[in-house]
Amino acid sequence: MQRVLKDDYIHGGTQKDLYEEKDKEACTCPLCGSDEFKQIDEERGLGIANCLNCNLLYTNPTAVNADKNYFGESDTIYNEARLIFKGRKKHHRDRNYIYEVNKIRKLKPNGKLLDIGTNMGFFLRKAREAGFEVEGVEPSPSLSKIAEREWGMKIYNSFLQELDLPEKSYDVITMVDVFEHVINPQEMLKSCYSLLKDDGVLAIKVPNGAYNKVKMKLAKRLGKKGVMDIWDSYEHVVHYTYPTMKHLVAEHGFIVKSFFVPLPIHSPEWARLVGHYYQYPSPFIFSWKKIMMRRLFFWMGKLERIFGRKTRYSPDLFFLLQKA
Ligand SMILES: [Zn+2]
Repeated sequence: MQRVLKDDYIHGGTQKDLYEEKDKEACTCPLCGSDEFKQIDEERGLGIANCLNCNLLYTNPTAVNADKNYFGESDTIYNEARLIFKGRKKHHRDRNYIYEVNKIRKLKPNGKLLDIGTNMGFFLRKAREAGFEVEGVEPSPSLSKIAEREWGMKIYNSFLQELDLPEKSYDVITMVDVFEHVINPQEMLKSCYSLLKDDGVLAIKVPNGAYNKVKMKLAKRLGKKGVMDIWDSYEHVVHYTYPTMKHLVAEHGFIVKSFFVPLPIHSPEWARLVGHYYQYPSPFIFSWKKIMMRRLFFWMGKLERIFGRKTRYSPDLFFLLQKA
């Protein structure tokens, strides 16, 4: 079954079916600055580059304003999650968020937590329920307004770098499914370092670029045609792997204190059926093949960890970092 796609389609914000020259821009490697790369894949007119110098996978060319195209229109976004705000439905990632907050609590059981890219605050509310004193940063005016209004949280409507927050004031900083959207990860890590207390924890969850590469190869071998959005390159500008993330954070004075394979995401499938990206969990039967595949890779990712490899099969990576 095909997702409902028109010229531009609504998926939170506005993304295009195909990016033409005017809609995209070339960039250099966000990790090492090199402009030497090999293109390994193509998606909607955007490229997936493998840096020949540091091995980072990144989108090149990227969509123009790739870090803003999810901003979205307030009423549409609110309606996608209306029943969650009213307490009548769960969010499809609640289970994931609770698992992740518990992992953070093993290193830092409570304190002041800043969530960057907080969207409508679904992760943040689980952190608050676990006892953290929470604040969020969300550049989208519509999303930040909804999070503030619906959950009564302090949300800064801004990019982090444009804020003037006090140094060494947070026990935990989180970026859950956010860091892959960040166009200048170097600047972001520098800000996080200065905002975090000396014994603070920086928690970063990203999709695994190495897993995307496995999926890409599998799709090519099976002769699959058409856009599959394996890389979500219209908004994901970097595709981190365990080694490239470790390399990047080390340059900014962080060490990997703990690492785990996050629980698989049970994607909401309502969009395929009704043309709208609902945030609610969908019945198992809607997408059982995808769910089983994700579970399989989750366990393969866990097994890889047991045998000491880090890590090709885990769909996502979760890093808990501290100052070196
Ligand atoms: Zn590079």
